[in-house]
Amino acid sequence: MTGLLFKKIPYTFQDPSLLDNRAFVGGKWINSIERKAFPVYDPEDNQEICKVADLSREDVRTAIDAARSAFKSFKKTSHRDRRWMIRRWADLLRANKEDLAAICTLELGKPYTESLATVKYGTDFLYWFEGEIERVYGETIPAARENNRIFTIKEPQGVVAAITPWNSPIAMVTRKVGAAIAAGNTVVCKPAPETPLCAIAVAKLFERSGGPPGVLNIVPCSAENTAEVGAELCSNKLVRHLSFTGSTAVGKHLNAECAKSMKKTSMELGGNAPFIVFEDANIKRAVDGLISSKFRSSGQTCVCANRIFIQSSIINTFASVLETRLAETFTYGSVWDPKVNYGPLYSPKAFEKLTCQIQDAVSKGGKLLGKDVGEAQAHYGPNFYPPTIITGATTDMLFMKQETFGPLAFLIPFQTEEEVIALANDTDAGLASYFYTEDIGRLWRVSEALEAGMIGVRVGLVSACEQPFGGVKESGIGREGGSGALDEYLIVKSITVGL
Ligand code: NAP
Repeated sequence: MTGLLFKKIPYTFQDPSLLDNRAFVGGKWINSIERKAFPVYDPEDNQEICKVADLSREDVRTAIDAARSAFKSFKKTSHRDRRWMIRRWADLLRANKEDLAAICTLELGKPYTESLATVKYGTDFLYWFEGEIERVYGETIPAARENNRIFTIKEPQGVVAAITPWNSPIAMVTRKVGAAIAAGNTVVCKPAPETPLCAIAVAKLFERSGGPPGVLNIVPCSAENTAEVGAELCSNKLVRHLSFTGSTAVGKHLNAECAKSMKKTSMELGGNAPFIVFEDANIKRAVDGLISSKFRSSGQTCVCANRIFIQSSIINTFASVLETRLAETFTYGSVWDPKVNYGPLYSPKAFEKLTCQIQDAVSKGGKLLGKDVGEAQAHYGPNFYPPTIITGATTDMLFMKQETFGPLAFLIPFQTEEEVIALANDTDAGLASYFYTEDIGRLWRVSEALEAGMIGVRVGLVSACEQPFGGVKESGIGREGGSGALDEYLIVKSITVGL
């Protein structure tokens, strides 16, 4: 147990100093000016873990000033120096993966084995950006005007603000902050109030990697202070780019606020992914893909399957194979047990949302397959929601329009390819879409017809550092990862030279 923690946990930190409850501003570890702190809870039992510095609008203004001042020299660093700094940072994340995973398990309730995988996923982004730094080029453009020459160069933008959600508290930070810093910007990052400890630990390792003071600033704050802190990040003219991951409703609000000072924004917002299984699919493969897409992280990812369309002729077989495979796949128990691969929801409010969707579905004729929720809670903790299949789902149910963000698999029958494409696209969201078929013509037709930023064909996972990640429609603007990852945080400047 570490001094900071209010509760005992079954894990001994190799480096207890990674667990810190202070903000990181201008290269210093600080408390808020008002010396306020907010509680962080363990989702496994809702007990308080510790208190974390609760930064105010004024504190955040100081962080923005520190980032702006650091930018003056950081923008001049050579790409090679930045490359080695990011490499050292990534190496430190890898060397400390067990402790980082423990922090993730503690504040997110993610099973420890899964947390290790999530640390690797977050670290891989840093390795990817490190390589991409070497591939930022300008252009030489033939000029139509006589005796002119035109060149372009790419430059960092300045101070980037990053606002991250709780559901992937390491990767959501490295994916934004890593790309922005690799491109030569400085950053002020506000982590979600449920999971500030991972972001703080990532910043500790940034400091140890030789990251200059003020280049990365972490400004945790309570839910009560979020609106004020968000207003500062959106309105402060020194901030040139806001990168946000979270719900569409909040993303729209922040985007409108940023428009007032013409900030560039990157918006990674909510999804409502269709998952389609055609009758020619390999059912076992489709079931396994659905389990990883729908139930990974207890259904709490933006790319989770949300509306599951199964061709009528195979829906009963599919439901029964799914029920059997679910029972074989998941082991429940303490999230610290390495055999356990399914954990609680992140908070009581997530539980309430699922209860509403289930009540709505049952009132419209849906049938539930799965463990009794009350019994499961009594065994595994107050926020535990077992994987649940809902058969007889219909298109007038709440889940069709509202992202579930939990382990409910609504199975909806369909008859034809045209019908299911229309249903799949009948949403304002467009993040991920999945389908299973063995027909090569259908593979291309459906891939091209689905309105989404990412399509999974015969796979249930669509995210990796080398792949552009992002949505269309109300799921957002911009891409993270992939070969354009640094361009998101760079300005193209053209230079015309007269001879
Ligand atoms: P959320 O309520 O939008 O919150 C996300 C973050 O924004 C939190 O840190 C939150 O802090 C902050 N926030 C809320 N209102 C704000 C404001 N006015 N100013 C500044 N910051 C503000 O989303 P969530 O429920 O935590 O996360 C789940 C959502 O994120 C889902 O819709 C999911 O699909 C989406 N998501 C998208 C992606 C993607 O890459 N597209 C990835 C992961 C998650 P507070 O908690 O204090 O409000």
